[in-house]
Amino acid sequence: MKIAIAGSGAMGSRFGYMLHKAGNDVILIDKWKEHIDTIREQGLTVNYNGSKDVVDIPIYFPNEVEGQVDVIFLFTKAMFLGDMLEDIQPVIGKETQVVCLLNGIGHETVMKEYVALENILIGVTIFTAGLTGPGQIVLEGSGSTEIQNFIPGGEEKAKEIVAILKQAGLNGVYSENVKFSIWRKACVNGVLNATCSLLDTTLGEMFSTEEAVSMTKSIVKEFVAVAAKQDVSLDFDDTVAYIVKTAEELGHHYPSMHQDLIQHNRKTEIDYINGAVARLAKEYGIEAPTNTVITEFIHIKEQVLNVK
Ligand code: NAD
Repeated sequence: MKIAIAGSGAMGSRFGYMLHKAGNDVILIDKWKEHIDTIREQGLTVNYNGSKDVVDIPIYFPNEVEGQVDVIFLFTKAMFLGDMLEDIQPVIGKETQVVCLLNGIGHETVMKEYVALENILIGVTIFTAGLTGPGQIVLEGSGSTEIQNFIPGGEEKAKEIVAILKQAGLNGVYSENVKFSIWRKACVNGVLNATCSLLDTTLGEMFSTEEAVSMTKSIVKEFVAVAAKQDVSLDFDDTVAYIVKTAEELGHHYPSMHQDLIQHNRKTEIDYINGAVARLAKEYGIEAPTNTVITEFIHIKEQVLNVK
C-alpha cells in the first residue's frame, strides 16, 4: 500500500513518521524548500517522547511525484487545502482514498472539487505535533484518529485504513458518526483557540476568570444551533462541560492558534472554525453574533501583526 502525506509539516510528519516506522511505503509531499532539503540531506529528525530518532523518508515537491498512490492523508492548514489538492491532482487515481484530518468544518466542500465522493474520508485526530525547525519535529503524548467514509459504501476501505492507523500506533477508530467528532473538536477549538489567542493567555489563565464560562456558553450555543442545521447533534451542557474540563487539564498550554498567531505571526484557521459557524449561520438565517465578532477580531489581529 503506497501512502502519501500531502502537507508534511508538524502533523503530516508525525503521520508520515509513524506510518513509515510501521513498515508502510510512505512519501511526504510539501513545498517548503528548506524542510525538503533538510530531510533529503539529513533525514527527518524526530524527538519522540524524549528519544531522538532519524528516519530516511522520501519527500517531494507536489510536481515531482511520479505515479499515483493508494491513500493520501491531507495535512495542510485549512486555507491551503484547495491549492494542495490542485497541485497533487496527478497523484490522485480513480481508486485513491483521500483522508482529511484537518481541524475545522466543511473541508469536504473543497475536497469534492478534486476527489470522487466515494473516495473521500473525513476525520479528526487528537494527536499533536510540533515543528522545531526544518526537518525536525517533536512528538509528545498519545491520541486517537477517528475516520469515516464521507458517503455510504466506502466502509470496507475506511476500515482498512483504520487498521493501518492502528498498526502504526495512530490508534485508528472507525466512526459511525464522525461529523459529530469533527464539530465537537471545532467547538472546543472555537472556544479555547480563539479566546486565548485574542487575550494572549494560557487556557488556565482564561478559565481562572469569572467570565470564561459565560463566554464559552455564548460560543457553544451558536455552534450547537448551526450544527443542528447540518444534522449534527451537539449537546449544549455536555459540550460546555467537556470544554471546561479540557481547559482545566491543559491549563498551562497555549492553544495552537496562539502559537500560530502570537508566537509565529502566521495566519490562523479561524475562517474554518468560528468563521465557519458565522458564515453558515448567515446562510441558515440564524444569529451568531459571538462567533462573528470573534472571527473579525482575529482577522484584525492578523492584520495588525502583519501575518504571513
Ligand atoms: P503545518 O503548518 O506545520 O504543516 C502544513 C504543511 O503543509 C507545511 O509544511 C506547508 O509547507 C505545507 N503546504 C501547505 N500548502 C501546500 C501546498 N500547496 N503544497 C505543498 N505543501 C503545502 O500545520 P500542522 O500543524 O501540521 O497542521 C495541519 C492540520 O492539522 C491543520 O488543520 C491543524 O489544525 C491540524 N492539527 C494540528 C495539530 C498539531 O498539533 N499541530 C493537531 C491536530 C490537528
